Amino acid sequence: MKVGIVGLGLIGGSLGLDLRSLGYEILGISRRESTCKLAEELGVADRASVNFTLMSEADIIFICTPIAAIKPTVEQLIPHLKLTTIITDVGSVKAPIVEEISPLWSNFVGGHPMAGTEENGINAAQRKLFVDAPYVLTTTANTPTEAVKTVESIVRSLGSKIHFCSPQTHDRAVAWISHLPLIISANLISACLDESETEVLELAKNLASSGFRDTSRVGGGNPELGLMIAQNNQQELLKVLLKYRQSLDNLIGLIEEENWQELEAKLQVTQKERPTFLS
Ligand code: NAP
Repeated sequence: MKVGIVGLGLIGGSLGLDLRSLGYEILGISRRESTCKLAEELGVADRASVNFTLMSEADIIFICTPIAAIKPTVEQLIPHLKLTTIITDVGSVKAPIVEEISPLWSNFVGGHPMAGTEENGINAAQRKLFVDAPYVLTTTANTPTEAVKTVESIVRSLGSKIHFCSPQTHDRAVAWISHLPLIISANLISACLDESETEVLELAKNLASSGFRDTSRVGGGNPELGLMIAQNNQQELLKVLLKYRQSLDNLIGLIEEENWQELEAKLQVTQKERPTFLS
């Protein structure tokens, strides 16, 4: 089976490395010639090009461009594809993408691997990125069953844990566990930078260790990704941010009132519940 990958960055490159090792023939497309050349040198793709004609051979195509480029990429691809070609994407937001792409190409399955790093670009691509990571496939009443089965079997071969849900349910769930943490984490860094005393800020920077590393990691990543998420999952993100603000106000109240008993009870719940998110 020939697998096309469009957008040879962190996610596209990592998919290429693993799928190629599994024996799939990988055809890569990227925007820059230099990325295509690197993709062949690094073993991400058997053949890579900036020319979409290469995709006429593909049986299935993973669109791994930034979210804003997904729809224009599919529009550019369509004239070159066999009617049986399956398109899937890896965008971090699903409802707007599925709504835009399904009318253009019926053999489409929305997808989202829940794996990544703070790095971007082809040099950040790594093997085994998807092993044991959740991978969501968002189906609707119109998603072709055979296409779902094919995408599912490829994703399973990566070692990912597959979840099925609607695009809307996906966007609500990831707003809580991915998009909200990214915004809070970015704001943590930003709020620390607001410290007005230079000596305190410098000392804080020198003292920052594992706790700050863990809590600031997702906020210190590729700004393009955070912006795309806020623009494309705006309503769900705002809902959870407003709930979060309420919850923060509640916490501030407990500390102001020196309600240590309730604060402790809350921290006991968070300690007990954290593993239920990470099992
Ligand atoms: P990335 O490392 O920046 O890779 C994107 C690649 O797409 C770039 O290397 C670029 O290649 C290429 N590209 C950019 N604009 C393009 C265009 N108009 N047409 C064709 N190719 C284009 O980004 P990424 O982190 O892999 O993210 C890619 C997708 O994965 C996004 O949709 C994101 O939502 C999703 N995702 C990301 C993560 C994460 O943690 N990073 C996790 C899950 C899903 P050139 O080098 O040729 O310019």
